[in-house]
Amino acid sequence: MQVGAVGESELVRRIAARFPGPSRPGEVLLGMGDDGALLRHPAGSVQVITTDLLLENVHFRRAWTPFDLLGHKALAVNLSDVAAMGAAPGPFFLNLGLPQDLLLSDFDALLDGLAGEARQAGDIVLAGGDTCASSCLHIGVTLTGQVRPERVIRREGGQPGDLITVSGPLGDAAAGLLLLEAGWRWSTTAAAAARPAGGPLDVPDQVATAALAAHLRPVPCLRLGQDLGGKVSAGMDLSDGVAADLPRLCAASGCGARVELDRIPVGAPARALFAAVGMDAPRAALAAAEDYSLLVTVTREAWQSGLGADHGLAIIGRLVAAREGLALLVDGVEEAWPEPGFHHFSRP
Ligand SMILES: [Mg+2]
Repeated sequence: MQVGAVGESELVRRIAARFPGPSRPGEVLLGMGDDGALLRHPAGSVQVITTDLLLENVHFRRAWTPFDLLGHKALAVNLSDVAAMGAAPGPFFLNLGLPQDLLLSDFDALLDGLAGEARQAGDIVLAGGDTCASSCLHIGVTLTGQVRPERVIRREGGQPGDLITVSGPLGDAAAGLLLLEAGWRWSTTAAAAARPAGGPLDVPDQVATAALAAHLRPVPCLRLGQDLGGKVSAGMDLSDGVAADLPRLCAASGCGARVELDRIPVGAPARALFAAVGMDAPRAALAAAEDYSLLVTVTREAWQSGLGADHGLAIIGRLVAAREGLALLVDGVEEAWPEPGFHHFSRP
């Protein structure tokens, strides 16, 4: 059966069935079902609100993306933004544009993924939203979060001399996209990568599974973001890659940067995949999008007191004065800042 064959009220009933309502009393005073939601503002905290849209054929392809993983990712990318602010996630809102021919079973799988991610994020509550018919699938999530004002992480606040660090290996999600482009798919039944017949990218199955999982099911740094709040000078999440995101942090902080290419922590799946297509692994990882790890700057004093080791941060460079601009250091020699973006992955 298709989504177009049932009315909106049935779709809303299916949504409500998966999100039974507030499990944390007092947080949501009035949830789904009225003209608006009433949220209690926690005393002593400020509220973060972030929103992200996943659009079919722009952010994902239906044929490449299992619906449950799409649900997970739609919420995960918002959770990553809340984590990057140092905040704990709260109630969220869901807007769906649905093609009439979407199978109801796929719609249900999408909701199952969203509900699973909401549970993992600490049983956060769906507080409202909207559905409408659309020519392509679109999933808009708006997520709230709470953080004490002194623990907010902003892109602003980095100072020349601060160390630039990342919280995880880079490039694995982009490696997963390379695989999808080459015909690999995620098998939901096997929970593993499915190899294309005679495909051009021949890598071990476990490498492909790790790379596809990184791309299709990113894990937001929720705990880490809250732990780092108040301890780092600036920070953001890595959605578009260091090459694109670090200039944004630098602009907000009024700084330049020097990043050392040989310090870029390339994920093991990414290293294998980039080698298989003849790309330079650290350069590719620098430009790679959708890792959803955190990019944070740390004072030297905080680093020396063990902050980096405590939280698994890896130094990739340092902030410098704004007039020095951004540059890459390759064997001690300065190179122009790399072009950000996905064009690295569309070369023949
Ligand atoms: Mg972000």
